[in-house]
Amino acid sequence: MKGCEASKMNNIQEKDKKYIAGTYNRNPVCLISGNGSTAISDDGKEYIDFTSGIGVNSFGYSDEVWADAVSAQAKKLQHTSNLYYTSPCAILAEKLMERTKMNKVFFANSGAEANEGAIKFARKYSVTKYNDNRNVVISLKNSFHGRTLATLTATGQEVFHKYFGPFSEGFLYAEADDFEVFSKLLTSDVCAVIIEFIQGEGGVVPLNKEFVNKLYDYCNKNDIVFIADEVQTGVGRTGKFLCSENYGVKPDITTLAKGLGGGLPIGAVLMNEKFSEVIAYSDHGSTFGGNPVCCAGAITVTDRIDDTFLADVVKKGEYIKEKLEGCGEVESITGMGLMLGIELKNLKASDVVATALEKGLMLLTAKTKVRLLPPLNITYEEIDKGLEILIDILS
Ligand SMILES: *Cc1c(COP(=O)(O)O)cnc(C)c1O
Repeated sequence: MKGCEASKMNNIQEKDKKYIAGTYNRNPVCLISGNGSTAISDDGKEYIDFTSGIGVNSFGYSDEVWADAVSAQAKKLQHTSNLYYTSPCAILAEKLMERTKMNKVFFANSGAEANEGAIKFARKYSVTKYNDNRNVVISLKNSFHGRTLATLTATGQEVFHKYFGPFSEGFLYAEADDFEVFSKLLTSDVCAVIIEFIQGEGGVVPLNKEFVNKLYDYCNKNDIVFIADEVQTGVGRTGKFLCSENYGVKPDITTLAKGLGGGLPIGAVLMNEKFSEVIAYSDHGSTFGGNPVCCAGAITVTDRIDDTFLADVVKKGEYIKEKLEGCGEVESITGMGLMLGIELKNLKASDVVATALEKGLMLLTAKTKVRLLPPLNITYEEIDKGLEILIDILS
């Protein structure tokens, strides 16, 4: 590292540490640019990216189609509020509804906000149609639904529940993959269940298909709103546009965020026909929701995730799995498509992430696992470069 560049980087890191609230534990790297699945730091070092900014940069860094659409929209009209019509928002809505066979969408700005919206809509539906007591939401243990107070309450992990009480009322937790236990909580006060098909932050843990189907059938028969939190699994990540397609179910509400905007903040609450009569003027809102620049980016993402592209996502995921399965340190690999979790035998996931970074590969953890969420359009050349580093560490 050259002297002046080193001091520039330290300067950024020092400023950050001095002025930014200490809620993040950043890696000691300052990124300045990127191309495809390769990021570049301020000292000129290249990193293969198996993280896509936690499942956000679906088409990698500075993807041209995305960047052109976003900058063209920014130069034309960057924001209007929801008091006016804009075309990117309406076009994205049409594309998402056609793609998912849902009925209506509400646009938010993040995953947590999308889930907040989903909970509100489910409650409005149930208390309007039944009674005020029908407001209980059941989530799963080991789930993650966001950091706002209601979604934090829905998050079934005690570690997130320190310090921030009192929490919202009307939330219960059930063990995943045990319908018998779950069914004991299913009283007439339950308005909704919220699940991740693959628990992401919880350690890339896919739910059992039989459990999901039983739960889905029960919800259908009893008019309990089935909410799929696809903030991490949605928009092609698992090899289908929605992970619900892998499970053969059609949720009443599906929430999206992370990968939808290709790098810009956007969340979406997709709803079926049940909600068309119930959700009305002033029930919910957002100043930034449906922002034209974010929607212009999201259109380019949604447009390109077709069946051929998705088949490639599946193939790349299988390719990575095959290459890693033989490594001495690999206990097992979970996940679908390009959402993979590697359980290790002896090494610590955080140590693997740190070593890989030094060698030029960006990785994530999820609980005790190393988690891979590479850009969906990552090339085999980039995969091989990254795997060379990872296999070396895990052998
Ligand atoms: C990341 C995530 C969230 C929260 O999304 P934010 O955009 O950080 O609010 C919610 N649910 C799941 C499943 C997630 O992976």
